[in-house]
Parts: sequence; structure tokens; C-alpha cells
Amino acid sequence: MDVATPLEKIKGVGEKTTEQFALAGLNTVGDLINFLPRTYEDYSNAQDIAHLKPGKVTVRARCSSINTKFVRRGMKVTNAVLSDNTGSMQAVWFNQPYRETQLKTSQEFFFTGSLEFSRGRYQLMNPGAEVVKDTVKETEGVDRVVPVYRAIRGLKTQLVRKIMNGIRPVIETLPETLPSKIVASEELLPRSRAVAKMHFPANFEDVEQAKERLAFEELFQLLLASQLNKQENAKLKGWNIPFDQPAIKEFVSKLPFALTNAQRIASWEIIQDFQKDTPMNRLLQGDVGAGKTVVAGIAARQAAVHGFQTALMAPTEILANQHAKTLSDLLEPFGITVGLLTSGVKGESRKMLYQSISNGTVDVLVGTHALIQTGVEFASLGFVVIDEQHRFGVAQRQELLKKSKNMPHMLAMTATPIPRSLALTVYGELDISVLDELPANRKPIKTKIWSPNSRPQLYELIDKEIAGGRQVYVVCSLVDDSVDNELKSVQAEYRRLQNSVFKHRKIGLLHGQMKSSEKDEVMGRFSRGEIDVLVSTTVIEVGVDVPNATAMIIEDADRFGLAQLHQLRGRVGRGEHQSYCYLVTSTSAKPSRRLKEIETSNDGFYLAEVDLELRGPGEIYGRSQHGALNLQVASLADTRLIARAKRSAKQFVEEDSLDKYKELSKSVVEYQRLTTLN
Ligand code: ADP
Ligand code: MG
Repeated sequence: MDVATPLEKIKGVGEKTTEQFALAGLNTVGDLINFLPRTYEDYSNAQDIAHLKPGKVTVRARCSSINTKFVRRGMKVTNAVLSDNTGSMQAVWFNQPYRETQLKTSQEFFFTGSLEFSRGRYQLMNPGAEVVKDTVKETEGVDRVVPVYRAIRGLKTQLVRKIMNGIRPVIETLPETLPSKIVASEELLPRSRAVAKMHFPANFEDVEQAKERLAFEELFQLLLASQLNKQENAKLKGWNIPFDQPAIKEFVSKLPFALTNAQRIASWEIIQDFQKDTPMNRLLQGDVGAGKTVVAGIAARQAAVHGFQTALMAPTEILANQHAKTLSDLLEPFGITVGLLTSGVKGESRKMLYQSISNGTVDVLVGTHALIQTGVEFASLGFVVIDEQHRFGVAQRQELLKKSKNMPHMLAMTATPIPRSLALTVYGELDISVLDELPANRKPIKTKIWSPNSRPQLYELIDKEIAGGRQVYVVCSLVDDSVDNELKSVQAEYRRLQNSVFKHRKIGLLHGQMKSSEKDEVMGRFSRGEIDVLVSTTVIEVGVDVPNATAMIIEDADRFGLAQLHQLRGRVGRGEHQSYCYLVTSTSAKPSRRLKEIETSNDGFYLAEVDLELRGPGEIYGRSQHGALNLQVASLADTRLIARAKRSAKQFVEEDSLDKYKELSKSVVEYQRLTTLN
């Protein structure tokens, strides 16, 4: 048996189990070895029910009664009484009706969860439950730390543990992947010991040591990748676009508003980069409403004046339309031509647009993915701007960059604030500009968590806003992660509001399954003020700019992530009027830390730090931003370990060569591909 052995060859793994593993992406012994525990339970430490204090607790108890009730909006609440020989307590689960079948046996369980005071009594909230006799082996006693694996449908965590035990010999002979010099100088565990301690720890100290080693390795690979990317970038030939300060100053002085200091600095940094021989590779971070488009526009004008075209790619048609309008308002008075290319531009007009792109009549081309299609040929593409860059894959960005003879300067814009530690690690080879202030005319949005029981009062407030001439968004959530349910929920809400509460108002509906022409039509009516209440899914999330919209209701707000709530909220507060955001929770239970944080802060960077702390970078940036960039162990908030890994990566680049390390090289090359913006 080795890492390549298919799982079905292992003793005790049948066809059914193999199938379930395969569905979870686990096919070989090696896959299973890398399937690290999500967390650990310390069953050596069960407490007496009579002596519990609020907070995280583990009890060893039986369930003496249990029942499930349906409450409004499809929510199921399961209540139970748990008892040990010192006393009894209440436990509650939300939307976990299977707990009834699981606990209705007279067996003894370990329950682990958070003991909280709510509705006049202490309750154990959503505890995990494990049968005691499954976790306690006679030989090892109760006194142990037990790994908990991410749930795989149809497989008990106990079975996963057992199979893991079966492949222990392979784990204990895993080869080293880091250069031995680094293992020695950083005093790390050998890879085999570290992985073994992850799966079979004797205590929490083992877990810590093992994590340190594995986290170091992940960070080292990531940082090495960005060092190498940076080296390669420095070898590329870019376009030299001269810097003419007086002309730029004159242009900026004619803008309809004064730039914020942050906008000034960012524009300056970009135009400085333009005159270097290597291509710019810069990330422009700015909270929603910070005014990134203008910064891109100032740079695009600079390029145009010197004969270079700009391409700005946006993730949706709504946004592309809006950018095209903003940029043409801004630039056309100065003789700079802005074109718009989306899937809506067809036939003869598309042909003509293609022509003016290839003969250089269009200076700035704004569009969606349509920009990367084969017919689009630029006369002299010098500057590429990617809006909401995390919405695009590496391949799409590359397609666009390839439309130039030399490597164009690239500006990636994002409204998802990335904590500094994370930006420096993941985007180590990038230069970063930050818009950390909003234009002076903005009033901070007032945000309030709202209990679903108090809807009537909320609708009164909203109706007053509308009566005052303002407009409102109502955002519905993705129910059960399914597009179909999302559609149902947004349509139902639309009908409900139209038929009752807002009968006397003009209501619009917007969702992702509408044709883009329909979406544009609805958005157009909303921005012209012809719709009072826009009921929408998260398609309005990015970039939509309607300054007269001053209130947003987010339904089931607890179902959204912090970053997403912040993004959504950024659709209001874009004009001179005071704006409001109401977070309606799906139950009247105590609101989460997430909601409380967003209620009290408007600062995207702060909220990003909190999000990172609450969910970990894998959740936030792993899947959405990088596809497979998945840090299993490392925390990008661990600046101390990052510094160590960075030092080692630098030294490695100077003294060693990847060719000698096959495994390491594989991961580093993959990270290089995933994190580079070229
Ligand atoms: P975002 O950074 O979210 O993409 P936008 O570029 O869409 O922000 O800008 C939001 C709005 O603010 C636009 O209507 C824009 O014209 C306006 N704006 C940008 N900069 C300023 C400024 N310095 N003063 C006043 N308004 C500004
Ligand atoms: Mg924007």
C-alpha cells in the first residue's frame, strides 16, 4: 500500500464507502492522508451538567426527551433534554431534524457545543453529538483528543477514523517534502511525524506542533510562488507611457469633483508605473463607493494621450454599462472616445465597433467577457483594467492581456478589502494601492438588525422613505444554496410585497435567471426612478450605482457572509441623503457576532479582518478567489509564521533550485499559476 493505492483496495472499505469518498473527491490513500481533521474534540474533559458555565462545553449525557417543531419560513427547531447523574439541561438545534432519530436511542453521547443564555434559560446551542462507545476504545480509555473530519455524506466520522488507522503505516513513512536544511533550521517536525500527529494526536500539544509544520509548508510554497512570479514579471517587456505632470494636473482640476487624497495617491502610483519598462502589475483596493472608476479613468486618459488603448473588463453587463457611462461622461469632453462591447452589441454595430477597435478610433473599450472573444483586435492595447478581479479566472485575465504585443500594464480593482497580511502573502508579487477614504460628501450608512416579528414597523419606515422620493432595495437570500430556491424566494417576496405591503408603490424584480436585456431594462427603470422598490437576489451585489436609493432590506441576513453583506450594503449611501440598511434575521434568536459587527461598523477593511478571523481565509479567498488555492492549515492572520516562511523562501530563491524537489515544485508551480494576475 502507498499513496497511490485506490481506496477500494483498503481492508474494510467496501464499494459503497468508496463511492461516498469519491463523491467527496477522495480516491486514493494519498487523498485520504491529506484529508486533515477539521477540528478536535477533547473528550477527556467532559463536565458535570450541574457545574456547567456558559461558553464551549462538553458533557457526557443521555437524551431523555426530544421533539421538533416547524416555525415560520421553513425553519425547524429541535428541542431536547439531556441528563447525566448530576442533572439535566436543554439543548436546541436549528434545521437539524435528523437529531431526533440519532438521539432517540438510549445510548450515552458526548455533546459538544456552546452553552448560551437565551429566552430566559441556558441552552446548549446546536451541539455535536457522538456515541460514547464509538469514541472510547477500551485500550485507549476516555482520556483522548479525537479528530473530527469534515462530514462526508453517508459516512460516519468513526468510520473515517478507523480507515485512517488502517493506513497509518503509509502515513508514518511519508517522504519529506521540504528541503532538509529548512526543516532543521526552522526546527520543524518531519512531514511524516506531522501528518501522523494530525490524525492521531495524543494531546493538543501534538496538534499544535503538527499544524505549525504543515502551515509553514503551505506558506512557504505560496511565498516561494510569489517570489518566482515577481522574478518572471521583472523580465517582461512593457510599454513605456510618459508622465507629463502639468497636463495631468490640468485634467484633474477640470473633473466635476475634487479627488480624495487616496484617489490622488493611487492615480499617481499608477501613472508612475506607466513610465517604467516593466509592465505594471497593481491591485487597486477600495471599499465600495471609494471611487475606483475615476482612478482608472485618469490612467486611461494618460494612456490615450500617448496613443495607447485601454480595455476595462467588468463581470456583469449592468456594471459594464455603468462604467461606460461614467468613463464617457468623464473622458469624452476631453476628446477621448469610449466604446462599449457586451453580448447585447450585435450584427452591423458589432462589426463597426470591432473596426474602430482595430483601427484605434476607440481609445477606451469597456465590456464584459465579450472583450476576450476572437474578433476583438486592438490597434495598440497598453492598459488593461479588471474590475472586481476575483470574479474572473486566471485564464480570462490572460486572454485579455494576450491581445497586446508587449505585456500591457495591468490594474486589478477589487471592492473586497483584503487584509494586509493576506494581500502580501497571496499577492506577494503585486503592488497595491488602497483607497482608504470615501469622498467627503458621503454620510455613513445607519445599519440595524431587525427581528422578523417587527416587520410592520420596518415597512412603515420604508414607506416614509419612498414617500420622501427615495428608492429601496429588498434583497433575498440564497436558500439551501440552490439557484432554484433562490428564484422561488425572490419571486415569492416580490409577489408578497406587491400584493400587500407596497400595493400602492411601483415594484420591480431582478434575478440572475433573467435575460441580460431584461435585467438592463429593470436596472434602467430603477436608476431613472421609475421603480420604488427593487426586489432582487444578490445580482445587484457588485458596483451598481443608484445614488437615490437610500434604504436596503436584507432578508435572512444571517445567511450571508460578512463580506457579502458589506458589499450589498454598499449599494446605498452613494448620494447626499442619509441611508439605511436593515438586516432582517431569519429567526428571532440572538443575532450572530457577524451581524453585530456589521451593525456597528462601516469599515470594509475592519470587517474583512473580522471575517478572516471568523471564517478563515480558506473560506473567504480559497474557493471564490482562486479556485484551488486552498490553505488547509495555515492561517493568513499568523504574521509570525508568515515572516519565517518568507525569510526561508527568499533564501531558497537565492541559494537553491526547485529542480531538486519534485513534490515541492509541483505545488509551487500550481500556486504560481493560481496567484499570478498575468
Ligand atoms: P467604486 O469604488 O465602488 O467602484 P465608483 O467608482 O463607482 O466607486 O464611484 C462611486 C461614485 O462616487 C460615482 O458616482 C463617482 O462619480 C463618485 N465619486 C468618485 N470619486 C468622487 C469624489 N472624489 N468626490 C465625489 N464623488 C466621487
Ligand atoms: Mg466599482
